[in-house]
Amino acid sequence: MDIAGLRTDLEGLKIEDNPKIVQQKSRDFYWYSPVLKRQLEQVTADIVVSPRDEAEVIRVLAACHRRGIPVTPRGTGTGNYGQAMPLSGGVILSLAEMNTVSAISPGRVVVGPGAIIADIDRATRAHSGQELRLHPSTYATASIGGFIAGGSGGVGSINFGGLRDFGNVLRLRVVTMEAEPRALELTGEDLHKVTHAYGTNGIITEVEMPLTAAYDWVDVIVGFDSFMGAARFGNALGCQDGLLTKLITPIAAPVPQLYFKRHQKFFREGQSVCLVMVAPHSLDAFLAFTRRAGGEVVYNAASASEEEKKGLPPNYELAWNHTTLRALRVDPSITYLQSLYPFPDHLALIEKIDGLFPGEVFSHLEFVRFDGNITCFGLNLVRFTTEERLDEIIRTFEANGCPIFNPHRYTLEEGGMKQTDEVQLAFKREADPQGLLNPGKMIAWENPDYDYRSGKTFLFKGLERAS
Ligand SMILES: Cc1cc2nc3c(=O)[nH]c(=O)nc-3n(C[C@H](O)[C@H](O)[C@H](O)COP(=O)(O)OP(=O)(O)OC[C@H]3O[C@@H](n4cnc5c(N)ncnc54)[C@H](O)[C@@H]3O)c2cc1C
Repeated sequence: MDIAGLRTDLEGLKIEDNPKIVQQKSRDFYWYSPVLKRQLEQVTADIVVSPRDEAEVIRVLAACHRRGIPVTPRGTGTGNYGQAMPLSGGVILSLAEMNTVSAISPGRVVVGPGAIIADIDRATRAHSGQELRLHPSTYATASIGGFIAGGSGGVGSINFGGLRDFGNVLRLRVVTMEAEPRALELTGEDLHKVTHAYGTNGIITEVEMPLTAAYDWVDVIVGFDSFMGAARFGNALGCQDGLLTKLITPIAAPVPQLYFKRHQKFFREGQSVCLVMVAPHSLDAFLAFTRRAGGEVVYNAASASEEEKKGLPPNYELAWNHTTLRALRVDPSITYLQSLYPFPDHLALIEKIDGLFPGEVFSHLEFVRFDGNITCFGLNLVRFTTEERLDEIIRTFEANGCPIFNPHRYTLEEGGMKQTDEVQLAFKREADPQGLLNPGKMIAWENPDYDYRSGKTFLFKGLERAS
């Protein structure tokens, strides 16, 4: 790779080549997985380029295309699957500086891809009392472009479903990796070409997202003597049409007691919990519902004293993938699995799976609206022993009808539905004919004959280049 020549082509652009910083910017939260940690530890790019606008993105892509240099886009690097890691080296394209909020109107906001999600909400709240429909639990640090290209859903999914559901992204502007890069406007069905494609087939340079009414959400934690008590409560709460919530998260004991350090004082031994974010105008009715359902309110931010609230993270930073992060900080042997408990049998499946791995898998659910029904994902904590045992646990989930979105794989297909996404593949042929964008992440591109049922892990040959 002629990196020196590329530097000359890109004169005037912001470039970083200090190897320590380049390596740091070549990483994401891949180390959540002991498997990815082993495979990707050494991966690094050659340089980081930080364009300030779309014209600079086009300059970088045209130059890299000419020289055959791979480009891996990056928001703020909070993804979990090694998504933003440059397996073939080359350029990290940091979109962090393209972070302006350029237009806010009823129901819509237009932003740069590098805008931090919490900053977008701050702007839309101040402008017109609106907020984004969904956000990951990495709200305070993640970029909107990274969320769309790498995330799936999160806080707010109990009302609006996932990111790839129709209507949850309105418009994307995407630049192609060609001799003369084009800027395309994608809407409607075309959005599926690039949402959750890990930046393998285009660089998002502008985002238009839908907005909803903003509230000062109230954090409440409800305690239960059994995990199934918390799970049934979560399901019943999600089905309450009149109560407005934004987060419903049942978590089995002893996870809260062991890992939620700042909240520990609120929990009794053996108590499982359900974390909730509820709109202020729904709070009284929610408390009445909780009383009737037999839940014990162990923490209510609306009535807690300033002393009690001091230093507590918000509920959403105990939920989604933050549960794993908090566990990992205390016990580095913890990892996790992401699964779906399909409707309508989800409660029976939750109960069955919860009983299968005592002391090894700890149940953590996130209730969501999924195709109009209330059901849940599991982000279960796993006490890791060996890769073989992890695979065995995955097979048991799947044999019981719970698909696993495997966070121990860096490819789109293995981390998703284990099949080719023909729409994304076709768009890659059109928008990145040389296969230079985030190489190694789309199996369908690297090896069209790959057998997803083989049970083997796909190993990208080009991985050697950057490690
Ligand atoms: C503690 C923790 C909690 C999390 N909680 C959630 C959660 O609740 N829900 C959820 O969905 N995810 C969650 N995640 C994963 C991740 O934080 C989110 O998906 C986040 O939105 C990613 O944003 P980012 O800016 O960090 O993206 P990055 O990690 O920088 O990038 C993610 C992917 O998008 C690509 N990309 C980035 N910018 C662009 C662009 N402009 N154009 C094209 N491709 C691009 C990258 O190449 C990469 O493949 C969590 C992760 C952690 C560590």
